[in-house]
Amino acid sequence: MENKKELRNWLDDFKLDHPLVIAGPCSAETEEQVLKIAHQLKDSDATVLRAGIWKPRTRPGNFEGVGALGLKWLKKAKEETGMLTTTEVANPHHVDLALENDIDILWLGARTTVSPFIVQEIADALKGTDKTVLVKNPVNPDLSLWLGAVERLYTADIKNLGVIHRGFSAYEKTKYRNNPEWQIAIELQNKFPDLPLILDPSHIAGRRDIIFDLCQTALDLNYDGLMVETHHTPDDAWSDAAQQITPARLIQIMKDLKIRKEVSESEEFQNKLSNLRARIDVADNTLIELMAKRMKISDEIGRVKKSQNVSVLQTKRWNEILGKMVLEGEQHGLSEEFILRLFKAVHQESINHQEKIMKS
Ligand code: PEP
Ligand code: MN
Repeated sequence: MENKKELRNWLDDFKLDHPLVIAGPCSAETEEQVLKIAHQLKDSDATVLRAGIWKPRTRPGNFEGVGALGLKWLKKAKEETGMLTTTEVANPHHVDLALENDIDILWLGARTTVSPFIVQEIADALKGTDKTVLVKNPVNPDLSLWLGAVERLYTADIKNLGVIHRGFSAYEKTKYRNNPEWQIAIELQNKFPDLPLILDPSHIAGRRDIIFDLCQTALDLNYDGLMVETHHTPDDAWSDAAQQITPARLIQIMKDLKIRKEVSESEEFQNKLSNLRARIDVADNTLIELMAKRMKISDEIGRVKKSQNVSVLQTKRWNEILGKMVLEGEQHGLSEEFILRLFKAVHQESINHQEKIMKS
């Protein structure tokens, strides 16, 4: 898939002066619920109403969605509010039903993107339609898998495409339900700048208090849209209650967000920016030189260890360094997460250097 401007057409056709907003409940629960939320969203920036009809639950026994019946509710909401509609499709049967009921935009969920077989079946079922399809990132942090799903759709002549960044699963618990791993989405954006990129802060957060911050980060990174789970009484939601916000809160969030422009013509701004960028470049070069210097010392250590037949990995010493650096970093306003990542990478490179020497 080359980077084709046509990928953007469906989004540009909306002629919005703000990011695309998709909002609505995690799950369609009742007809009244869907209509109530849709009407409350009418005064917001949301152009598209979302609701899950078939819900992928990790374990059986939970609410698994109302099924095809809910498609009629979405259709009614569209007639009453003029909003477009979107739902998740997870197999060709879902696709057929969604097409029959005029759902405007379909999305592939995180658990679908991981499976090339099912993505291919869905792509085949969509062939010959002009549907807009959004592909959520796979559950695991794998950019190729994400792109592969987009490519399967593209190859089936689906040209109205976009991607949704909903975060990645990890065994270690963090403050997120799904780790954002922003660098993966940024890499995708760099590869395909014309593929609309939408943030789903709800499934990254898993809780409503950090939705705003996630949305602001996305706008700072030039994302094209937001998909936010919205419910008239979030705490009573049948799925994902903790992460849903009210339509009123969404309206406030959209008011408070700073929508940044990608470029500004102002000369003063340009001068300031180039000056700061030049300083960043200098700092980055210094970092590289410093790392090279550090690795030279590692090589030296490697030679000393080799001469005495001592093992490369010295766990105790390494844990001492890490602890010290986390404290040091904190004093300089650097987060523990960053320091740990940085020093683990530095340590790995150091081990590689020493291994090379040991084996030479
Ligand atoms: C959802 O959007 O409600 C959903 C199930 O999302 P995901 O596929 O990202 O888990
Ligand atoms: Mn959900």
